Amino acid sequence: MTETIRQPELARMFAAAAACVRSEHARLSELDSIAGDGDHGATMLRVVDRLESAVAPGSSGDLKVLLKDAGWSILGVDGGASSCLLGTFFAGMADTESDASALDCRGFTAACEAGLQAASRQSKAQPGDKTMMDALVPAVAALRAAADSGTLLIDALRSAADAARAGAESTRNLIARHGRAKHLGEKTRGHQDPGATSVALLFEGFYRGLAETKGDAGYA
Ligand code: ADP
Ligand code: MG
Repeated sequence: MTETIRQPELARMFAAAAACVRSEHARLSELDSIAGDGDHGATMLRVVDRLESAVAPGSSGDLKVLLKDAGWSILGVDGGASSCLLGTFFAGMADTESDASALDCRGFTAACEAGLQAASRQSKAQPGDKTMMDALVPAVAALRAAADSGTLLIDALRSAADAARAGAESTRNLIARHGRAKHLGEKTRGHQDPGATSVALLFEGFYRGLAETKGDAGYA
C-alpha cells in the first residue's frame, strides 16, 4: 500500500483547510475581538487564499518549491503575528531531507517538525501560553508518534487533527502570555485562543483533503 502526498494531494489538503477556515472565519474574528483586535478571521481568509494559490493547477510538482512559495506568500499577508508565524511554518516545512516530489507519513512528519522548528525560532511561546503553539505542538507530536509506530498517513493526520483540536480547546482555561492578548491577563480566560483555533481548522482540513483523495489513482 503506497501512501504519499504529491502535488494533487497537497492541493486537496490545502483546499480543504481553506474551506474549514472560511466556514469559521466569523468565529475567528469574534474570538480575536474578545482578546485582541478582531482581525484574525480576515487575516486567515487571506492566509488560506495564498495557501490555495500556491498549489493551483500548473504549479510545481516539487513539494519543497510549493511549500516555500506558500510560506513566503503568506509572509506577505501583513496580517500580524498569525500570518508571520504560519508563513514561517509553511516555508520551514521545505527545510527537510524528505523527497521533494512525494511525502509519506515520515516525510510529512519531518516537514511539519521543520516548520514548527522554524516557527519556534520566531516565537518564545510554549504550550500553556495560550497561543497557536497550544494546537501546533501537540499536532506535530501526534504525527511523530504515528510515524514512529508505522501508522497510515491518513490515520496520522486524523490523530494530528484531534490533537490540534484538543489543544485549541484547552486554551479556553488559560491566560494569554504572548501577543496582544497578554495585556488582558485574566480577561482572556474563558475564551479559546483564535490562533490555536485556526491551526486546529488547518489540520482538520489536511485530514479531510487527504481523505477525499483515497479513491483516486496515485493513492492506494
Ligand atoms: P495580531 O495579534 O497581530 O492581530 P492575529 O489576530 O491574526 O494577529 O492572530 C492572533 C493569534 O496569533 C493569537 O490568537 C495567537 O494564537 C497567535 N500569536 C500571537 N502572538 C504569538 C506569539 N508570540 N507566539 C505564538 N502565537 C502568537
Ligand atoms: Mg488580531
